[in-house]
Amino acid sequence: MRFVFLGPPGVGKGTQAARFSERHKLPHIATGDLLRVAMKEETSVGLKAKSFIENGRLVPDEVIIALMEDRIQAPDAKSGYILDGFPRTIAQAKALSEILTRNGVALDCVFYFSLGDETLMERIVGRRTCPDCHAIYHVSYHPPEKEGLCHCGGILFQRKDDVPETVAERLAVYKNETSPLITYYKNENILTEINADQSIDRIAENLQKMV
Ligand code: ADP
Ligand code: AMP
Repeated sequence: MRFVFLGPPGVGKGTQAARFSERHKLPHIATGDLLRVAMKEETSVGLKAKSFIENGRLVPDEVIIALMEDRIQAPDAKSGYILDGFPRTIAQAKALSEILTRNGVALDCVFYFSLGDETLMERIVGRRTCPDCHAIYHVSYHPPEKEGLCHCGGILFQRKDDVPETVAERLAVYKNETSPLITYYKNENILTEINADQSIDRIAENLQKMV
């Protein structure tokens, strides 16, 4: 099974993808996580991506496509995966389609998570992330058991790009460059919209009913 989780930053894609991944035993492939690891390790991809990420812009298509081409053809992704944060442009969607065709497979469904801008901002600025296991928390909506500490023991941090000025830029970039994918996948008849203005548990239940 091959799924894309599409939607604006902060809508809850990563939160749902982590649960869905555990339930369906599918790798959760999040481009943002891959890029943050690459930045930390100062690989050539990380060095190329850094300024784009910190300014809320998209990393150039060629960098992302090369990264994802390798990742989705890795042995653990042979029988499926959840793509979270990719594709984010029409060029990336076309590249993904070519890779899938070459491998004789196809996407099963694109889940499009929808939510208003005000709530997105609230969710993003309250997000706290684990540097070790990539778990996602929220200071009010999904707090950790022990303040500032992940269940794995990691020390939670606020992403540098999760501050209001950068978030505004990321929301604008989403509208201009990523939202055209809604129509793109609607035309391919594989888009299912999920109302993300509900509790984490309720959204997970809705997703469950759809697969
Ligand atoms: P995305 O991957 O789409 O950027 P995340 O899954 O990281 O979004 O979620 C963004 C923030 O919103 C996190 O702090 C997360 O804990 C919180 N969150 C996710 N889903 C919900 C929800 N349904 N209700 C309230 N807060 C949520
Ligand atoms: P995310 O963790 O999904 O919020 O992504 C964080 C940042 O990584 C984005 O704001 C972009 O700068 C970059 N990024 C993640 N995925 C992509 C992608 N598919 N294309 C371009 N840039 C990306």
